[in-house]
Amino acid sequence: MEDVHYILKKYWGYNRFRSLQLEIIQATLSKKDVLALLPTGGGKSICFQIPALAKPGICLVVTPLISLMKDQVEQLKKRNISAAAIFTGMSYAEIDLILDNCIYGHTKFLYISPERLKTELFITRVQKMHVNLLAIDEAHCISQWGYDFRPSYLEIAELRPLLPNVNIIALTATATRAVKQDIQDKLAFKNPVVFQKSFNRDNLAYLVKRTDDKDGALLRLLNRIKGTAIIYVNTRKKTKLISQFLAKNNINTTFYHGGLDNTERTQRQDAWIKGKVRVMVATNAFGMGIDKPDVRLVVHLDLPTTLEAYYQEAGRAGRDEQKSYAIILYDEQDILELKENIEKEHPSIEQLKKVYQQLANYYQLAVGSHDNTAHDFDWEDFANTCRIQPQEAYQAIKKLESEGLIRLNEAFFQPAKLHIAVNHHDLYAFQVAHAIYDAIMKSILRLYGGELFSEFCTISEAKIAQHMQTNPATVTQQLHKLHQLGVVNYVPQTDK
Ligand code: ADP
Repeated sequence: MEDVHYILKKYWGYNRFRSLQLEIIQATLSKKDVLALLPTGGGKSICFQIPALAKPGICLVVTPLISLMKDQVEQLKKRNISAAAIFTGMSYAEIDLILDNCIYGHTKFLYISPERLKTELFITRVQKMHVNLLAIDEAHCISQWGYDFRPSYLEIAELRPLLPNVNIIALTATATRAVKQDIQDKLAFKNPVVFQKSFNRDNLAYLVKRTDDKDGALLRLLNRIKGTAIIYVNTRKKTKLISQFLAKNNINTTFYHGGLDNTERTQRQDAWIKGKVRVMVATNAFGMGIDKPDVRLVVHLDLPTTLEAYYQEAGRAGRDEQKSYAIILYDEQDILELKENIEKEHPSIEQLKKVYQQLANYYQLAVGSHDNTAHDFDWEDFANTCRIQPQEAYQAIKKLESEGLIRLNEAFFQPAKLHIAVNHHDLYAFQVAHAIYDAIMKSILRLYGGELFSEFCTISEAKIAQHMQTNPATVTQQLHKLHQLGVVNYVPQTDK
């Protein structure tokens, strides 16, 4: 087996591994099933590419996006590593040839979209390949609890019996508890080991600034912070408007959203990646799989939809570990909308209990109580029967689901835990977590001058506990949880 340091130097020219890379590589080489949670830009690709290069045989890589695949294949080829990709839209003959090369040729990496895994052509051929590793990129796509669930990812487990001696490495930048567990379950992990890098990004400053003039503030930022930038907005229309505004002010810019046709999107993305365009104004359609190391600034002109999404988007800055900025600009209106959304998304305990109870009644009425299989769940019927607004029911049910009290599966409702009485502890825990998040927001927005994610502010647990009328130990525990989720950057201070 070739030495992994030698491989790193030979193909990438790097002298040392980043933190956890070596540990992940070694565990993968020792045939464990590995789950690697590294922040965006943490260097995930090398974690499966190096073990695959160290051994004879071919590595299968499952990736959700064609663009991601093409990009990685190109990167590998540039380094003289033989790689190929199979995705929807290729002809039978093309695929046939690629698969032949994987069996008889020297292909080291085969990238494949999850939809292709179950085709007969692939299934018969893959068993003839000398597969040395199965790598699952963006592994959170397998979990309904994640923000980017792709049902086709569930098919991956069916590959395992065909490749009984092959271990898995699953990689993601998402690290919520439920998603971590789900990835291991759904991929049928046998000899599991989980690596999780601290999601603190020392080189990345998170700032939240209040302003009554977002356009002006944006211009000043772009003039002060040199280098490539991404500006995120919430609507397609705004991408164009902001881009036009910046262009008028002599800033080299383009815009990107899901409504543009494929060619146009690729052209704009390429121009930005190659540095021909400095500033990309985009909706959240722009992002996954974009490996541009030198993004110096990510600005959100609208409040991000979820904190997890924010973390991903902000994390596109500073992948080269150089000083970079993630900045939210907000105004009065944003705060009003945020408050409204939080209230909507966090129904009161009474409301939850009511919906939970009604759900139990409804389920018994509709399908009988001893049946354990999944059943169609009719939202409108449910809301009608219970005489509540569908929207109200939806929010409450989502909340119950996110707390693991019930399982709700796209179109059907699975009463896995329905017969367990409402667990007051869990409800309490999430009420506290929400209260803490709220308290942190409030304390930082109000007490600490509006720098929501500042690196420099010290938050006192005692103060928050007092504010929430709870004890500091609970606050500390919940802060750890929020930290794990990447919501806050929490570094406990010890008494000197
Ligand atoms: P991720 O998939 O975790 O977002 P990538 O695998 O795309 O990250 O890596 C991000 C960047 O960091 C890439 O440009 C990669 O070449 C670089 N990189 C990865 N590992 C190292 C290392 N050990 N030393 C220097 N640069 C590295």
